[in-house]
Amino acid sequence: MTIAQQMPKADSHLPDIEATARGLYIDGNWRQSKSGRKIGVTDPSTGALLAAVADATVEDAQASIEAASRAAPGWRSTPPRKRSEILRRCFELMIERSEMLATLISLENGKALRDARGEVAYAAEFFRWNAEEAVRITGEFGIAPSGGNRIIVDYQPIGICLLITPWNFPAAMATRKIAPALAAGCTVILKPASETPLTAYALASIYEEAGVPPGVVNVLTTSEPAQLSAAILTDPRVRKLSFTGSTGVGRLLLTEAAKQIVSCSMELGGNAPFIVFDDADLDAALDGAMVAKMRNAGEACTAANRLYVQSGIYAAFAEGLAKRMAALTVGSGVDALTECGPMITPKAVEKIDRLVADAKAKGARVMCGGEASAGPGYFYPPTVLVDMPEGVEMAHEEIFGPVAPIYRFETEDEVVARANDTEYGLAAYVFTRDAARGLRVSSALEAGMIALNRGLVSDPAAPFGGVKQSGLGREGGQHHGIAEFMEAKYIATSF
Ligand code: NAP
Repeated sequence: MTIAQQMPKADSHLPDIEATARGLYIDGNWRQSKSGRKIGVTDPSTGALLAAVADATVEDAQASIEAASRAAPGWRSTPPRKRSEILRRCFELMIERSEMLATLISLENGKALRDARGEVAYAAEFFRWNAEEAVRITGEFGIAPSGGNRIIVDYQPIGICLLITPWNFPAAMATRKIAPALAAGCTVILKPASETPLTAYALASIYEEAGVPPGVVNVLTTSEPAQLSAAILTDPRVRKLSFTGSTGVGRLLLTEAAKQIVSCSMELGGNAPFIVFDDADLDAALDGAMVAKMRNAGEACTAANRLYVQSGIYAAFAEGLAKRMAALTVGSGVDALTECGPMITPKAVEKIDRLVADAKAKGARVMCGGEASAGPGYFYPPTVLVDMPEGVEMAHEEIFGPVAPIYRFETEDEVVARANDTEYGLAAYVFTRDAARGLRVSSALEAGMIALNRGLVSDPAAPFGGVKQSGLGREGGQHHGIAEFMEAKYIATSF
């Protein structure tokens, strides 16, 4: 018996997992996969099976392209005001059901309920923001420099979009794509991560209830993501791929998308530096570090992966951070007292263990944590490492867990060079009381987003994205997010 079958159904704050896992969502219908196979969904807090979802085949993927294609003309010609109102309703329903959605996220992802509540609010905000943007899509009009003709630029929906999302923010990574795509007038196929499909299906029910027409959003889970995405991306009707996930899979998908010259937006991995200068406000830097490191138990692309602290403040910062990290309550995601939930899989714990063992072997000193916890559940304790040596693996790899390695630095030029010594360029954090230095360092850091004297950078109203191998394109922001789902059409005319 799965946990879904054991859960009481009467409390509306509790998700009805069995109903959520009722099938693939294609053309406004819930249907079983042509394969008849299922994918097990596990609760990382216990290792127990939560539910099983349908495992889509290439044939199911083709059905979703047909549905998205049939729905496309009607949706792109739906008045922006009407599209906006439907998106607004999605926002309202998500807020009404936020406790149920947060519980579902905690169950399948393991994140602490307080993080899951934060995610639902953030995820819903993409609908509110894009409901407001949907009615503000404008064009351009100008006179050619020769004076011989007029230039009209019209922005049109790009077409059918394939959206692929990771497990670490099962609601927000989906709504950050779906909301702007729908605002722009596109129809979509969402392929959520296999570890956390239930949230994507729960949200599909909300879209349906909000009035999103059949075929406009289709949701498919599969154990064969490479085959399915290849089949979808080689269909000439599909014009957009928006992917959030690892840089490695992003590279594979870019190759696949090249076959039909499909437009790509890529939100990939990160290796964020967190820089604290001697003149920083120590408490503010510690507060910031706790958010930047421990939001989602470190399983975030924006997570502080390398903490660089200047010599004069190093000891005080390390001691303060170790005290706060050691005091965190580790436990099951759905327990209201939990501050640090489990990792997503046993493999994730093994990776963190390997990186910490490598750092220890090369001379790092453990101030707290430092060893994987015994099961059940996939736990790793909050860990602080100091006296970090050069040449450790975790300086170049995403830790994706609750481990804070603190490196010492002496000068501004040195720390900027070390911070930029990575293939990634997503987020970076800077703490200093010197405003000029804060802006100078922010400008010199190779990252798409800088948090200056703050531990949190994400905001639906700001352009989210990376440089270097952290990605292509932006999500959210005043026009950036929607622009990714539109094509400029230029009309030359004379009159
Ligand atoms: P992942 O392994 O790259 O998977 C992401 C998605 O891609 C999942 O839906 C996965 O499906 C699918 N996928 C895997 N292999 C594929 C293939 N060969 N072809 C097509 N699709 C494929 O990443 P993850 O472990 O879920 O997520 C963690 C990564 O995401 C980290 O690197 C993190 O930094 C990054 N991330 C970036 C951002 C950002 O905004 N920049 C935000 C969140 C996370 P299955 O689940 O079925 O394997």
